[in-house]
Amino acid sequence: MRMVDIIINKRDKGELSQEEIDFFIQGYTHGDIPDYQASALAMAILLNGMSTREITGLTLAMAHSGEILDLSKVVPLAVDKHSTGGVGDKTSLVVAPTVSACGLPVGKMSGRGLGFSGGTLDKLESIPGFRINLSTDEFIHQLSTIGIVLTGQSADLAPADGKMYTLRDVTGTVQSIPLIASSIMSKKIAAGAQAILLDVKVGQGAFMTDLADARVLAELMVDIGKQVGKQTVAILSDMNQPLGQAVGNSLELQEALETLKGRGPDDFREHCMLASGYMLALGRLASDEIEGKKMAEAALVSGEAFKRFHDLVQAQGGDIRYVDNPDLFDKARLIQAVNAPRGGFLAEINAREVGETACLLGGGRERKGDPIDHTVGVIVHHKVGDKVFAGDPLFTIHANDEEKLEHARQKMLAAHQWSDVPVKPLPLYYGTIF
Ligand code: URA
Repeated sequence: MRMVDIIINKRDKGELSQEEIDFFIQGYTHGDIPDYQASALAMAILLNGMSTREITGLTLAMAHSGEILDLSKVVPLAVDKHSTGGVGDKTSLVVAPTVSACGLPVGKMSGRGLGFSGGTLDKLESIPGFRINLSTDEFIHQLSTIGIVLTGQSADLAPADGKMYTLRDVTGTVQSIPLIASSIMSKKIAAGAQAILLDVKVGQGAFMTDLADARVLAELMVDIGKQVGKQTVAILSDMNQPLGQAVGNSLELQEALETLKGRGPDDFREHCMLASGYMLALGRLASDEIEGKKMAEAALVSGEAFKRFHDLVQAQGGDIRYVDNPDLFDKARLIQAVNAPRGGFLAEINAREVGETACLLGGGRERKGDPIDHTVGVIVHHKVGDKVFAGDPLFTIHANDEEKLEHARQKMLAAHQWSDVPVKPLPLYYGTIF
């Protein structure tokens, strides 16, 4: 078999056989197939698509490119969660301890931020000492002892995805539904949970800007999950405006702490409670997501969810004084509140622009491995549909550089669009795929 023939087959809109897919994934993972051929194939897939059979085959080949964990040997039932990524999306920081506090173990491998979209690991690393590189043995030990782990993905899990994702990022091939679905589901299959909640983000601050595309992606991933015997549910959630108020690593972590104390922004808390409800239903601790949501809310009110986050930080070497007293977090040198230049109804707070602003301030990275500044970011004070008076606080910038602060101010002002007539608030959800 020759790699060039596989590329030509897909270039000419053919359907790849499982042998061709396996040949590519094994060859690429082991370094026998060069990046230029893998990127040509990725582009052919982006342009010509894949059948459901090909996508499932690609997912399984990627999942089996490394170790496959089986968490059923460790805990009775583990439920994983994955967000397709967004702006201000600190959901895992609240959902994992909440669900764990309700009695369902959560062992989750998360990623770093890239471009405008943030990552859970970067947020957790705002806590001095917090370790995100647990070994597989440490992961399993912590899951079985305290019932919660938030760590980085082990290099042994789905290594084909690690290589493919880095390549796609620099070859304009991220935005392909078959490639996104196989990337996400291969990692979830390798991570070994028996059930999966997918949080598929849709809108300006998401990979999927179009609801119809997001639905196709969600249906595809749910279908793949079911085919491999994992109960899978996807929620389609809004990412046109930032989730919650804080965007930026340490600021988001502090907002998650507030939320774990039963406070925090309403939209973010509501999103976390519903996601927790679905996870508890998937884990069979609740009869449905509504009962699960009530259990999750009770865990916030009782303080158990916050306590579980505390246990997590302690177990992974983080300085728990920061969890008890968030005033200890390092602050950016320049903190500037910007007031509304006019009155009216907010018609848009462009999540992508806000995410890019946090990135330009130094809170995100353009290239994998770039260093980041955990202290910087923005706080948005309103939601789409709010009535705002001229001079009301609109957003607050946390910066460490005067020039970047000014650039951020301009970009944030442009991200806010106004209307003279009332505007409907944006929904939190667009549906659920079972
Ligand atoms: N998240 C992933 O893990 N992979 C993708 O391809 C896109 C988002």
